[in-house]
Amino acid sequence: MKKKQGAYGKIPTHSDSTFIQLLHVNEVYAAWKLLYWSPLNSNLDELLLDGNNEKGADGDGEGNEGGGNEGKEGEAPAGGGEEDAQKKKQSKMEDLSFCNTILTSVSRSFAAVIRQLPLIVLVDVMIFYLVLRALDTIEDDMTFFHKTMMKGEGDATDSSEDITTTTTTTTTANNHHINNNNNNANQAKVSALLSFHKTALTNPDWKLMGCGDGDERRLLEHFPQCHSIFLSLPSESRRIIVDITQRMACGMAEFVTKDLGQGTTDILEYNRYCHFVAGLWIGITKLHLSDQMGLFLQKTNIIRDYLEDYVDGRAFWPMEIWNKYSPNGDLGYFANPTTEEAKNAGLACLDELITDAFELVPDCLAYLSKLQCVEIFRFCAIPQVMAIATLEKCYHNPNVFTGVVKIRKGTSCLLINSAVDLRGVHDIFHWFAMRIMSKAEGFAAAAATEEEV
Ligand code: MG
Repeated sequence: MKKKQGAYGKIPTHSDSTFIQLLHVNEVYAAWKLLYWSPLNSNLDELLLDGNNEKGADGDGEGNEGGGNEGKEGEAPAGGGEEDAQKKKQSKMEDLSFCNTILTSVSRSFAAVIRQLPLIVLVDVMIFYLVLRALDTIEDDMTFFHKTMMKGEGDATDSSEDITTTTTTTTTANNHHINNNNNNANQAKVSALLSFHKTALTNPDWKLMGCGDGDERRLLEHFPQCHSIFLSLPSESRRIIVDITQRMACGMAEFVTKDLGQGTTDILEYNRYCHFVAGLWIGITKLHLSDQMGLFLQKTNIIRDYLEDYVDGRAFWPMEIWNKYSPNGDLGYFANPTTEEAKNAGLACLDELITDAFELVPDCLAYLSKLQCVEIFRFCAIPQVMAIATLEKCYHNPNVFTGVVKIRKGTSCLLINSAVDLRGVHDIFHWFAMRIMSKAEGFAAAAATEEEV
């Protein structure tokens, strides 16, 4: 799960204008249809409404073994008193409502597909998503631990600073200090990630103040409300969430201390990172097949987020690929290019990475073909079709090197309406694949003509 809706502060976003959107009449119709005619149902709204008429929820940390809706709501504690039970139920409904709201804030598209899931898995998947999103916020914050370290060292530095030292030694000392601070900050992040399943998922009062931005920061600051719902999940769901969270954190921690200023080393390392951070999909289905679906989403995000990740000093484009296109051996060669050579090199590299991601498509379709439940099918299929649309939009698109490329909202609506069954998903994949192919042929022909001239 790779981050960042709403956190693109530093990097411009490339979206089509409203005028362009209105020109796509079929998409406008799709948006209208999705909004008013056949919206994705939210089974959670139903649960929240029902909550007021049901008996009290438990808060004893034992959860319920039975699974299903009852498992989440729990039983009223025996002998706890009517009033007590009522209060607990009220506070549990508030927590559930918080989870619902924060889910929409951190990811509108995921929120829609999660909330249409059958009640038997809905709350489990929602909490799973929020837990991993909280973990990801810690992973993605590139300054929080540095600031925390500085603050901690601030007092000591003030009293021990020797103002008579020469400029040269001060610079060396400063560099040494910065390196030290970076190492300490990375170590602090590593231990925050590695202990997350023991802190956030064990201590009901655990929260983290000031990490991440906007809604993701709010999620970490109000984490006890997620924890409260986590506690009422069936024990098997909690076990899977803890297990996958721990595995994902280990993978993330492995990459924190790596110097990613120049991306990952090779495809193997690139795949390894994508595999770790695709934990959500592995956990949800507990099937290895779905690994490819997670990889496909991760690769799409990493390809699109080239500039932002590069600016953050933690890029994931594999050097094995980009090195072939960068004459100065720097991944930043493609960023905001000023020469025609740099622009074309970036585009060729981008196209190769998109082609690599496309190799996962047959496995994704094979996996989708095995899903029987229509809501679970849509839950898996919608992110996939959004990903392929994003890849098509990014293909040979110079905007990837100057900002974040986004698909039109209308396109999203059209895709959500169409990804209802395997036929629909096949058609979407086929359509975007054909578009990429014709783009590729067009660019190849143009390049050949140029060469002749
Ligand atoms: Mg991340």
